[in-house]
Order: sequence, then structure tokens, then C-alpha cells
Amino acid sequence: MGSALNRPGSYGRLSFWHESAGDDWTPRPALPGDREVDVAIVGAGYTGLWTAYYLAEADPSLSIAVLESEVCGFGASGRNGGWCSALFPAELPALAALAGTEAGGRESALAQHAAMRATVDEVTRVAAAEGIDAHVAKGGTIRLARGPAQLARARAEVDEARHWGRDPDDLELLDAARTGEIVRAQGVSGATYTPDCAAIHPARLVRGLALAVERREVVIHERTRVTHISPREVRTDQGTVRAETVVRATEAFTSQLPGHRRTSIPVYSLVIATEPLPPSTWDEIGLARRETFSDFRHLIVYGQRTADDRIVFGGRGAPYHAGSRVDPSFDRDESVFARILAGLVDLFPVLRGVRVTHAWGGPLGVPRDWCASVGLDPSTGLAWAGGYVGDGVATTNLAGRTLRDLVLRQDTDLTGLPWVNHRSPSWEPEPLRWLGVNAARIAFSAADREEALTRRPSLLARAVAPLVS
Ligand SMILES: Cc1cc2nc3c(=O)[nH]c(=O)nc-3n(C[C@H](O)[C@H](O)[C@H](O)COP(=O)(O)OP(=O)(O)OC[C@H]3O[C@@H](n4cnc5c(N)ncnc54)[C@H](O)[C@@H]3O)c2cc1C
Repeated sequence: MGSALNRPGSYGRLSFWHESAGDDWTPRPALPGDREVDVAIVGAGYTGLWTAYYLAEADPSLSIAVLESEVCGFGASGRNGGWCSALFPAELPALAALAGTEAGGRESALAQHAAMRATVDEVTRVAAAEGIDAHVAKGGTIRLARGPAQLARARAEVDEARHWGRDPDDLELLDAARTGEIVRAQGVSGATYTPDCAAIHPARLVRGLALAVERREVVIHERTRVTHISPREVRTDQGTVRAETVVRATEAFTSQLPGHRRTSIPVYSLVIATEPLPPSTWDEIGLARRETFSDFRHLIVYGQRTADDRIVFGGRGAPYHAGSRVDPSFDRDESVFARILAGLVDLFPVLRGVRVTHAWGGPLGVPRDWCASVGLDPSTGLAWAGGYVGDGVATTNLAGRTLRDLVLRQDTDLTGLPWVNHRSPSWEPEPLRWLGVNAARIAFSAADREEALTRRPSLLARAVAPLVS
């Protein structure tokens, strides 16, 4: 952060989404000096803005200020893969363990899952109600199984869902023929399908949300960097804001704040966008309902067909930078972009020679136990939400509604969910953190190559799994 890339005027070029958001990205005025409000929110991504939205809606008399170091949608919220999905970055057993007793744990974990499913529709509902044209298409997600090892993982995931008593329509196993009715990719032996995902234009959503909160009298101060958060006080480079409640919504940038170096780590995910593809290419590929797509490899990939018929395709695999550093130069890595494109062409050989028009990246926030959390300490008035890993588009909305209830001191179904007030452990100090995270990244990439060669589940992946859970 803070380098030449972040000059006002360059925001509209950060990603395909920024460029096509229909916005000139002129920063709003910075904080004009010291002020006092009821609620100060640090960070104007989805978390900060959903929180402001629901709080202002529930109690219009509250004074709310959002403080943003760059512009709304500068972070992950403006540049993600656009999967608004019911995925939560912790499996049901981990959520159940948070809740304590076995029986209660199971019920709580399923309640969180049900809340996530409903959240996909809530995002869609608010976008429509607020006139936000976020190019929403709820086509679900198809996750391809390529080869026997991936098919075994697909089966195991569906078996696990049944074991937990999840609705049969919420995750289905498809054979190769049914998969081909949705998408035609190379080397596919089956897939899982869930209806719980909408493809969206992420930057249109976050920019539209900013306008929606302003219509509710929330004030957003852009180009205002928070330098210190403490109970009832936020210090910035433009002045100090005093507030009864302070919400930290800084996700991957959290490690840059004093006192939070080991709260979560920034892990980079990189993305490419192709040129718009002709109807003849789409006839070969499919994805007629703009289903989002992925597969069962270890090093995550994700794709969507955009409203203007491009493919946006991203993946992990970029290095973690020692000391949890965040810098605009890390958003680009030509070797990772090349690997992502090769992976896309391997899925859809019809794309050989396709023109890539945009390439970008950004950091995800990863807590030590890979489990997102939301909470408020009533004694200090300090609240937070984050640690979504790669599943924040919908989860931030659930966080916003939960923070509304916590701030207004209301006990609701949302405040009883297992992720509420969960405290993830701290990351190891360096250089252990750097060694562990990069070792896992390299091992997962090697595990995918091992499985492609042996066609059996990777032993290496099993060995490093404890590093990422
Ligand atoms: C490349 C990529 C692809 C992804 N794909 C998906 C996907 O397809 N589906 C999905 O569910 N999730 C995805 N994610 C994750 C998802 O985008 C995030 O979890 C979500 O956007 C987090 O929202 P947020 O508001 O918490 O954080 P952010 O959007 O990062 O917002 C935090 C804001 O805080 C500001 N800030 C930070 N520090 C300070 C400070 N000191 N002072 C003032 N302001 C500050 C930042 O500038 C930023 O605007 C992806 C993420 C990335 C990076």
C-alpha cells in the first residue's frame, strides 16, 4: 500500500472489474479533522459497507463514519472472482467444534450453513432493492472432477454432506454425461453441483453499496489511513475519530495495523480475464446459466462467465511475502498469470490462443485456523469481522447483519451462530510463518502434478494438510 500504483486516477485500472464498474473512481473527501460519531468503521470493502448499511437501516439516528485509506472497493471486494456463494472457510466439523457439545455443535454448524445459503439470496435481494446492477446470475457452482483422485474427493464431499443431513439438492454428484450438459471441459469424469452461488460483478456491487449507505446518511471518508485503533478512538493521518463502537473491517490489510501483525496473513490470489468470447466458443464450453466453475485440484482455481461473455479465471499459488507484507507490486506475477492461463486452456482447449485482456491480483485474509469470525467486545466497544480466506463475497453480508445485532445489543439467531466471537489463534512468528505457508503452497502444487501422473490421491497433500487447518 502507499506506492505510486495507488495514486487517485489509477484506481479504475486495478482490474477488469474496476475498469468496467461504470464509475470514474474519483475519491470522496478525506476526513476533514477530528470528529465524534456513534460508530466508526475502518475499511470500505463489503464488510465495512454491509455493516454500515444494516446499522443505518436498523437505527437511522446513529451517526456512522467509514474510514478508508484508498477508495471503496480498493481491496478484495473490488477485485475478486465474483462468486457470491454459500461457501464458508471452515468445514462443518470445525464449526461444530466451536459450538462445544456434540449435539449442540451439529445443530449450530448446520444453522451457520443454512444462514450462508440464505445470504446468497439476501445479497441478490439488496442489490435489486438498491438498484445496483451487479450483473447477478444465480447459476450455482459446478466443481469438476478430473481423474480418479479428484472424483474420489468429489464423492467424499457429497457423502460428508449426506452424513451431516444437508438437503440433497444443496450438493449433488453428477456423472460425466450430466456434467457435460452444463459444461464441457477436458478430462472430466464427474462433478459436484450446488445451486447456492451467484456470479456477480464485484466492483459494481461494492460501489453500488457505497452509494446505498450514503443515501442513508453514512459518511465515507476516502484517502484516510487509520494508523491506530483503540477503545473508543481511531487515529488517522487526517485526524482522530472518537466513537462508542469501532469496527475493524480491514481483512488482508489487518497485519499492517499496530498490534495485529499475527492476527491474519495476506495470501495473494491472482486472476486473468479473457477477451469476450464468440457464441460459437460458448456453444462448445456451455455455462449457459453463468454457472461458476472450479475443480477438485488442491491449489484452488475459480472461474466465471461474465455478463459480457469473457471468462474471469483465478487461482492461488503466488508466494507469501515474509513479514506479511502487502504491496501493489505483489498483485502481479507473470509466471503465476501464465500458469493460470495454461490451467484454463487445459480445461477448455478451444481457448488455445485466446487473448487475455486483463490480469491482476490481491490479498486474501487468512487466520491461523482458516476460520472466519465476527465479534464485539462490549467492554471496549471494539468489533471486527474477517478471515474469510477466499469465501468473503457472501460471508461479509452475514458479518454485516451480525455486527448490526451485536452493536445494537440484540440477541438474535445470527448472534448465536458458532463463528460469532470466535478468536483464531495467532500465526507463528517469522520465519516460521514464511516457511510453513510457502512450503504448503509448493507442496499442493506438487500434489496436483503427482495426482495427474499417478492418478491416485496424493500422499504429499495428506502430509501437509495440517499446515493449512
Ligand atoms: C483475487 C481474489 C479473488 C477472490 N475471489 C472470491 C470469490 O470469488 N468469492 C468469494 O466469496 N470471495 C473471494 N475473495 C475474497 C473476498 O473478496 C473477500 O473476502 C472480501 O471481499 C473481503 O471484504 P472486506 O470488506 O472484509 O475486505 P476488503 O474488500 O479488502 O476491504 C478492506 C478495506 O480496508 C481498507 N483498509 C485497510 N487498512 C486500512 C487502514 N489502515 N485504514 C483505512 N482503511 C484501510 C482497504 O483499503 C480496503 O478497502 C477473493 C479475494 C481476492 C483477493
